[in-house]
Amino acid sequence: MAKALNEKQVEEIKVLLLENKQKIETALRKIDEDHESLSTMDLKDEGDFAAASRDYSNDIHIKKQQKKELELIDHALKKIEKGEYTGLCEMCDSEITIKRLRVKPHARYCIDCRSFIDNEKKER
Ligand SMILES: [Zn+2]
Repeated sequence: MAKALNEKQVEEIKVLLLENKQKIETALRKIDEDHESLSTMDLKDEGDFAAASRDYSNDIHIKKQQKKELELIDHALKKIEKGEYTGLCEMCDSEITIKRLRVKPHARYCIDCRSFIDNEKKER
């Protein structure tokens, strides 16, 4: 199997993935805690209520994104565990640069494929 990364780089990515995973799990926990206190909070007037529900829907959006990211992180970690992590784009097999992986260690696609997918989504 072709590999774009050496063992040391894979190890580096793994550390980043685990760090991100922890950060996201902490953030998700915090959102849940906030929501719990929100439901017990007594909201004085409509303004309070509007602000609270605005935060709430914003949180839901963040939560959704974070969960998605968590899935991708787990996906990458699983690949590392199985020794299948290559640092190659899952779509076109070209190299995802280490620079990109350092910023986004759970990236599955190279920049070209990523923007292709994003464009497709926008058109739909
Ligand atoms: Zn690609």
